[in-house]
Amino acid sequence: MNQVLIPAAAPSRRVSPPPAGGVIHMLAGETMGTTWCVKLADLPSVNTTRLLKRIQGILDRVTAQMSPWREDSDLCRFNRARPGAWMKLPEEFFEVLSYALDVARATNGAFDPTVGPLVNGWGFGPAPRGGSFPDEAEVRWWRKGCGWRRLELDYRERRARQEGGISLDLCAIAKGFAVDLVARDLDRLGWDHYLVEVGGELRGRGVKPDSSPWWVELELPHGAPPQFARSLVALEGASVATSGDYRRYFEARGRRYSHTIDPRSGYPAQNGVVSTTVLARECMAADAWSTALTVLGVETAVPLADRLGLAARFICRDGDHWRLHTTRAYREMLE
Ligand code: AMP
Ligand code: MG
Repeated sequence: MNQVLIPAAAPSRRVSPPPAGGVIHMLAGETMGTTWCVKLADLPSVNTTRLLKRIQGILDRVTAQMSPWREDSDLCRFNRARPGAWMKLPEEFFEVLSYALDVARATNGAFDPTVGPLVNGWGFGPAPRGGSFPDEAEVRWWRKGCGWRRLELDYRERRARQEGGISLDLCAIAKGFAVDLVARDLDRLGWDHYLVEVGGELRGRGVKPDSSPWWVELELPHGAPPQFARSLVALEGASVATSGDYRRYFEARGRRYSHTIDPRSGYPAQNGVVSTTVLARECMAADAWSTALTVLGVETAVPLADRLGLAARFICRDGDHWRLHTTRAYREMLE
């Protein structure tokens, strides 16, 4: 059986109908160690060569600002900044960092943009992973290097400072933000019908040339039982992002250690959540919250998401036993 989800129509500016005889133009490339793709509904004669370059330029800008893998990024410069020294941040970097801190605050640090030392320590960051399984003292040491409260933002001057030794990691949020940035640009250029995707995080607006919505099938983790419904969402003025323990992980001692780290314990989250999908207007929010809710685990995540009105679907696993949980806002979107 299929489930169909219709997010509430976003209060966006009026969308004109797609032109008769339109086709889907597909633009694609690479960014942030993954791929991107933009689909546009318009006349076959429209030339998209310049637009492709423009989109790649936007994504390159996000990487130049926020990549922890590039020594010359603004993020790495901030990590190396003198303790206590204010650093003016580029517009986009500041926007992402301040939202990341909002989510850190709302989750009491389950989501933490300063999680870099743990991400690196566990072998999911730019530093190569050590050969052996870390001992508790090592994990404790990495954990000591984290702490979102050691960051301070100056909202008026759009600058930031840190106590020293911080290692920012915005990988849980930057892809979603990049999607928003591309969508904003398409809006500015007057495109009404598009679907933007960066590494699996998506945002859609308008409709396809045949006036049907941009249907997106929600990701199901590998091995999920066949009785789980296929879920299709109509992305009109909405975004979707998924975090999961099957994206990047390693196996040791008979367990799976995924790239979603619980900064409170210092260990990769081990709470039975296999994947979390969040639907939101902004893709940055969907991306950040899908990671944040994964770390929290369903018992804490569902009540919090309900309180905040977040639409989320969790797929959990305990041995051979799979379960699906949804939040109130998610159930309200079901047709
Ligand atoms: P995502 O695929 O959006 O869930 O992002 C996963 C990435 O976010 C990881 O590869 C880490 O770089 C980073 N990350 C891991 N744990 C956390 C956390 N607790 N808070 C913020 N970012 C995290
Ligand atoms: Mg995320």
